[in-house]
Amino acid sequence: MTARILVVDDIPANVRLLEVRLLAEYFEVLTATNGPDAIETCENGKVDVVLLDVMMPDMDGFEVCRRLKSDPATSHIPVVMITALDQVSDRVRGLEAGADDFLTKPVNDLQLMTRVKSLVRLKSLTDELRLRASTTRNIGIEELLSRNFASEDTTPKVLLIDERKSSVERIQKMLRDRADLDIASDPHAGFFQAAETPYECVMISTAFADFDPLRLCSQLRSLDRTRFMPIILLAEEGEEERIIRGLELGINDYLMRPIDQQELTARLRTQVRRKRYNDQLRASVTQTIEMAVTDGLTGLHNRRYLDSHLQTLFDRAVARRRPLSVMITDLDRFKAINDTYGHDGGDEVLREFARRLRKNVRGIDLACRFGGEEFVVVMPDTEGVVAEKVAERIRAEIAQAPFAIGSDGKTIEVTVSVGVSSVLKGVDTVAALMKRADLALYEAKSGGRNRVVAKAA
Ligand code: GH3
Ligand code: MG
Ligand code: MG
Repeated sequence: MTARILVVDDIPANVRLLEVRLLAEYFEVLTATNGPDAIETCENGKVDVVLLDVMMPDMDGFEVCRRLKSDPATSHIPVVMITALDQVSDRVRGLEAGADDFLTKPVNDLQLMTRVKSLVRLKSLTDELRLRASTTRNIGIEELLSRNFASEDTTPKVLLIDERKSSVERIQKMLRDRADLDIASDPHAGFFQAAETPYECVMISTAFADFDPLRLCSQLRSLDRTRFMPIILLAEEGEEERIIRGLELGINDYLMRPIDQQELTARLRTQVRRKRYNDQLRASVTQTIEMAVTDGLTGLHNRRYLDSHLQTLFDRAVARRRPLSVMITDLDRFKAINDTYGHDGGDEVLREFARRLRKNVRGIDLACRFGGEEFVVVMPDTEGVVAEKVAERIRAEIAQAPFAIGSDGKTIEVTVSVGVSSVLKGVDTVAALMKRADLALYEAKSGGRNRVVAKAA
């Protein structure tokens, strides 16, 4: 894993100390000795993680962090505060300023590396989502971000897995009004509960009499539904090694007992905020991809999708020596329908046609609106004779019952012409396959319409 780390400290010796250790791990290192320079570097360059000294003259670390986190251009960059004093109040101040983590001076080597690596991993996930969201859609990333901020008020749904009654009661009290908290005292039951409910964070105690809490962490990380669920480990003093193992397994954060209420709520808030941000990006990416490959009128796939998938289906069929057929359908005299019933009437016919088409093809068939009133169905594992039967079934389904237009009971007769072609053994190409289907369609039209023509070769 390579990443660019910005080290910020007003004392050059401290900067060099961290720089040497990070370089030894093959990180790329940038440096700054004051707040304004650090902010400028973040705005300009590709910084993956900021290691930020708290005590600096003029602009202290808290202020730098606050500024980075309030600017949409830099708010996604993870910030680790480095405090000289192991003071809970300092940590809380940092978390309120939006810091993602803490290290205390002198910085423990293992902690430094595991924390930095875990944040780099998280950041690369966010980066990928940001990139996809911004390249596939015209919506600004800033808009996504502001929407994210709006959703921060809702109480997060949290699961606590802890078998000690006294500890559960304490945490319940601390999080009253701050989280919608479920409890699982048994780790196995807790795992299933986490898999079934979309929690925004899972807190796992390390204090089980007879169970390895890290096993639970690794199970949660390997299950699809819980892969992105933030995990906070509630550890005991002296469990540093276990925490480090946990961080390597992908836990997001940890707290040391005795748990401080402010630190607990601040760390929980950080995790929930990050998860909501990533969830939103992921949803936006998914939606964008769906929009990009779906025909808005009929809900079928669009031509772009066909173009990118037909070759794959074709190659697969050839490689496996399996048959593959395609059909092109074109509504007959559709222009006349538009002329008589208007464009909206025509649209209604297209929607109903798509519904009947979908009803008559299998799940593995790829049905697309090719454009206008032309549709294409790609049928994997289907011989020409079978494809011809499917085409005939569709033709009959369209002709047999008139289409309703408008809400006043008007109906019209609609027919469709279909051309069918299949992949040839020996030399064939996608273009030739489509060309044959197109020729067959042309023959169906010139032969009188409302018919199926299949091209053997
Ligand atoms: P043929 O039997 O030879 O196919 O005749 P046709 O009238 O169906 O063929 P032509 O290609 O001349 O006309 C297709 C018409 O489809 C023209 C166009 O205005 C209409 N059309 C294309 N896209 C849409 C659409 O999204 N909605 C509606 N309502 N009409 C569309
Ligand atoms: Mg046409
Ligand atoms: Mg037509």
